Amino acid sequence: MRRRTDLRNPVARLGSRDPETRRRAAKELALHPQREAVPKLCWRLNPEHDGSEDVREWCAYALGKGRAVAGVPTLVRALTDPIRDVRCIAASALGAIGDRRAAKHLRDLLQSDEDDLVCQYALTALATLAPTDDRTAGAAVRVAQDESRAPALRQLAARVSAVHNALSSEAAPTAQPMQLELLTGAEPTRPNGVHEPAVIRLPRVVYEPERDTDLAEQVKRQRRGICQVCGVPPFRTRTGAEYSEAHHIDLLAEGGPDTAENMLVLCANCHCKLQFANVEYERGRAGRPRAVRINGERFNIRWRGGPAWA
Ligand SMILES: [Zn+2]
Repeated sequence: MRRRTDLRNPVARLGSRDPETRRRAAKELALHPQREAVPKLCWRLNPEHDGSEDVREWCAYALGKGRAVAGVPTLVRALTDPIRDVRCIAASALGAIGDRRAAKHLRDLLQSDEDDLVCQYALTALATLAPTDDRTAGAAVRVAQDESRAPALRQLAARVSAVHNALSSEAAPTAQPMQLELLTGAEPTRPNGVHEPAVIRLPRVVYEPERDTDLAEQVKRQRRGICQVCGVPPFRTRTGAEYSEAHHIDLLAEGGPDTAENMLVLCANCHCKLQFANVEYERGRAGRPRAVRINGERFNIRWRGGPAWA
C-alpha cells in the first residue's frame, strides 16, 4: 500500500514527490514559519536534493521569513545556486536574518558573481547587516568604480558607501548613536518579486536623548513630547515611558545655551533629519526660529498654542 503524505502538515508535504505540492508547502511555511521546518527547508534548498528552482526559491524565502539563523549556512551555499533568482532570494534572506557571519560570503559573492542583479541583492543585504563595517564600504566602493557594472548597481554601491560614511562620521555633539537597529525591519524578497530594487533599505540610527538633564525632561513634559516639527505624539516604550527626544537648536558645542528656548522636542525621525540633512532655521523676532527648512522643505515649528499642546 502506498504511504500517504499527511496533507495537513506542510513539513511533511515538503517530502512529496510532486514539485507543486512541495512549492505550496514551502510557501505555506513562509506565511506561517515553523522552527521544526528549518532542517527540511535547508535540505530542499540544496539543488542536489531538489531539482525544482521554484521549490528552492520558496525554501530560501521561507528561511528568511522565519529569521532562521540555523538556515544561514545553507543560504550561504545557495548564493552559488545555478539559478539567478535563487541566489537573489538567498542573499535577501541573509540580510533579513541579519547574522553577520554571512557578510564575508556576501562580499565574496560581490567579487565573483557576474550577474549585476545578484550583486544588487548582495549589496543590499550587506548594507542591512553590516552597514558600519569598513569592509562593506570597501566592497561598495570597488563596485561603484567598476565601469563594467550596470549603472543601477553602481549607484546603489555609491549610496551604500555614503550611508557608511554618514554612520561612521562623528555625530553631532548633542547625540551619540547608541545602537543600529537593522535586523528586524528588513523583509526578504519573495519569489516572483526579484527585480531591480528601487530603493535600498537604509539602516535606521537610534539615538539616545542627548542629555538626560532635568531641563530636557521638563521641556519634553511641558510640550507633551509632541514633535515640534511634524507634530507626531510620543510613543510608549516597553517600560511605559513616553519617548521623545530633545535637540539644541544652537549646538552646545558651538556655544548655544542650555535653555528651554534653545531646545526642540522632536520625534526620532525628525531628530535624525536635523542631524544629517541640510537644515536652515528661519529666525523670528524673538530670536527663536519660527520655521525650519529641511532639504528645502519648510516646516513651521510648533512653539505653543498649536492644537498639540495649547
Ligand atoms: Zn517629527
